[in-house]
Amino acid sequence: MKYRIDPKSGNELSVLGFGCMRFPRTRGFIDMQKTEGIVLEAIKQGVNYFDTAYIYGGSEEVLGSILKKNSVRDKVYLATKLPLVYIRSSQDFDEIFNKQLERLQTDTIDYYLMHNITSLSQWEKLCSMGAREWINVRKAEGAIKQVGFSFHGIRDEFLKVIDAYDWDFCQIQYNYANENFQAGVTGLKKAYEKGMAVIIMEPLLGGKLANGLPKEAVELLRKANPDLSPAAWALRWLWNQPEVTVILSGMNGSEQVKENLHIADTSYPHMLSVEENKTLRQVNEIFEKYNKIPCTGCNYCMPCPKNVNIPSCFAAHNASYSLGRIAGMTMYITSSGAMSDDQSGAGLCSKCGKCETHCPQNIKIREALDDVRKRMEPFWYRWGTSIARRVLTRKK
Ligand code: SF4
Ligand code: SF4
Repeated sequence: MKYRIDPKSGNELSVLGFGCMRFPRTRGFIDMQKTEGIVLEAIKQGVNYFDTAYIYGGSEEVLGSILKKNSVRDKVYLATKLPLVYIRSSQDFDEIFNKQLERLQTDTIDYYLMHNITSLSQWEKLCSMGAREWINVRKAEGAIKQVGFSFHGIRDEFLKVIDAYDWDFCQIQYNYANENFQAGVTGLKKAYEKGMAVIIMEPLLGGKLANGLPKEAVELLRKANPDLSPAAWALRWLWNQPEVTVILSGMNGSEQVKENLHIADTSYPHMLSVEENKTLRQVNEIFEKYNKIPCTGCNYCMPCPKNVNIPSCFAAHNASYSLGRIAGMTMYITSSGAMSDDQSGAGLCSKCGKCETHCPQNIKIREALDDVRKRMEPFWYRWGTSIARRVLTRKK
């Protein structure tokens, strides 16, 4: 495993970090056995940065229990996040933080983030409730080692936020398709110049840069280097940049752990040639043409009171452009529960707007679902799927 130095603490952080938001699940619950296997495998191979959050549905508890049970807490740097949505008064800081220590079965959080800051005013609001004083106390007693924030707003706000406090590190969404989106390359370089460690999230844009590229983009990559997968191209583009400290990957199987470890071991700063960079720019141009809705599948907008499976609707819609109409439609019918009693298609949306405030990509979800409905639920959709459902039920 390769390591890069966190300039503020001097910690040697593995270039590949483990993003714990997408632990493998079975029927909605984290698969403990599988998760334990891949977490331990990653630690054995030298991964030492684990990132979770209060709102990642069971992730803190599972990670805490794996680290404790296997006595490996001291082998990793633990990162988790303060859910800003739950902070309404100064008492909430302690209440939530103590719960996190309990869930993670630890006395110390190595990297603690304000979760999803999108603007300076949001940070100032937190400060008005005592965030600075609270951080000072927790840092002084050693319960928090490094303090930072994750970010999903626009670049200018990012630049204001990093100047508004003496942050140790930050976490940004960054990949070759988002070079100039959110904090972007300007934000990355600015944070680096300020001596902050920069943790990268969404390196594969919710998997789209690994498995969701249009055929012609995959072909372009294959021609340029048949030995590299689309995921390898995307990760190498990031590790090529010395300003990047750690790349988080939401690994959910041992094959993925192995592949990422191999890519990490063979990547280093300034490795990409002019030609390779040009290839990735061309791939991105193709990708942008097909990526109609920029959903990363983070699930922050869920659950929907009308049971709409928002990320799945968007994934199928995008796939209908990148992989073809039939592939997209098949995906939509399967993932929207069209053949079952548990339907979750775009047509169920009542336009309440509850989901939109949670979307880090600022997607106008109601409008986007309307587009999905028009494309993916043609005139025959309701009676077609209803007949199919009846036939299937009868067979059972
Ligand atoms: S706007 Fe539609 S998709 Fe969003 S929460 Fe309301 S019903 Fe669900
Ligand atoms: S719509 Fe937004 S919040 Fe919902 S899964 Fe997609 S990116 Fe995440």
